[in-house]
Amino acid sequence: MSLRLFSHGFDRNFFPFCTSKSGKFGGMALVTFTELGFYCAQADLYIDPLRRVPKALVTHAHSDHARPGMEHYLCHTQSVGILKLRLGQRISVQSLAYGESIWMNGVEVTLFPAGHVPGSAQVRLSYRGEVWVISGDYKTVGDGLTPAFESVRCHHFVTESTFGLPIFQWREQQTVFDDINAWWRGNASFGRPSVLLGYSLGKAQRILKYLDRSVGPVICHGAIAASNTVLENGGFDFGSWVDGSGGLTDLRDRGVGTENSLVVCPPNALRSAWISPLGNYSLANCSGWMAVSKSGDWGGVDRGFVLSDHADWPQLLEAVKASGAEHVHVTHGFSAVLAQYLRESLGLDADVVEQDMIERRDA
Ligand SMILES: [Zn+2]
Ligand SMILES: [Zn+2]
Repeated sequence: MSLRLFSHGFDRNFFPFCTSKSGKFGGMALVTFTELGFYCAQADLYIDPLRRVPKALVTHAHSDHARPGMEHYLCHTQSVGILKLRLGQRISVQSLAYGESIWMNGVEVTLFPAGHVPGSAQVRLSYRGEVWVISGDYKTVGDGLTPAFESVRCHHFVTESTFGLPIFQWREQQTVFDDINAWWRGNASFGRPSVLLGYSLGKAQRILKYLDRSVGPVICHGAIAASNTVLENGGFDFGSWVDGSGGLTDLRDRGVGTENSLVVCPPNALRSAWISPLGNYSLANCSGWMAVSKSGDWGGVDRGFVLSDHADWPQLLEAVKASGAEHVHVTHGFSAVLAQYLRESLGLDADVVEQDMIERRDA
């Protein structure tokens, strides 16, 4: 391995003196849940902290995990570009590849793929024989865009539970994309543009990757275009798209027809003047929450497609079981339901991490 310099507060200090295999050290848990977020005191490291701290490991670049103002950031290599795009080019950020470790005051810190969005990572913390995995947001089924989730054995597994109810069970993604392409084709046949909502990191690019370009042009809102460019520079490929950041009128002037187009934009774009040149369009949302919309009522859109970058109920159980963890800590979402199920049906020591006062939504 080539020598890398870690100059931003994350020292690579190997820990050759520790030979203890005991899981206990001074009676203190390796990770505690503080009002700033998950904290590893031994490494003086916070994971996805809520407010400014000296050293913040961010699992991925969504705004509910990667917040501004940290002294130093540590993240996966594929998150660096998006993190700088969102938080500023001058942030102090250091990165790790999947499977690469650094040691912080004796704690081995390693990232593994979480399969959530490009650059998303699970964090493995290991110290004196005790292993914690903080999985961040994840899904275990591969989407062909983001490196697929890898199960990591541990003693303590921290899991989200955004869709932690048995009613959430996703269909295979290709069937969803077949539906999306059919909806688009139908609109285009009437000369009506299609608008699809998706958040600008992850969901948008996953949609782009599977759109049928024979129907018409794919146009991206500026916020999505900016993320696309950063991810493409990092080696991701999700097919051709037209940059709509100059406006939709301008596109027509440039010979890009909008009548048979599919426009991908974040939800807040609907409240801006940017969308108005499109005229009468069909609007669809792409979200796991569409699973609980009443039939025919998609919450203000014409059509809902159930597509999520989070684990559904079977995936949550699969991830917990595969971790081999005896202790499971369940965070945001339906945490009480999932924790109870893990205790009563799987006999695990499962508890709820009270972070639910924090609004967490992918963005
Ligand atoms: Zn999240
Ligand atoms: Zn997320």
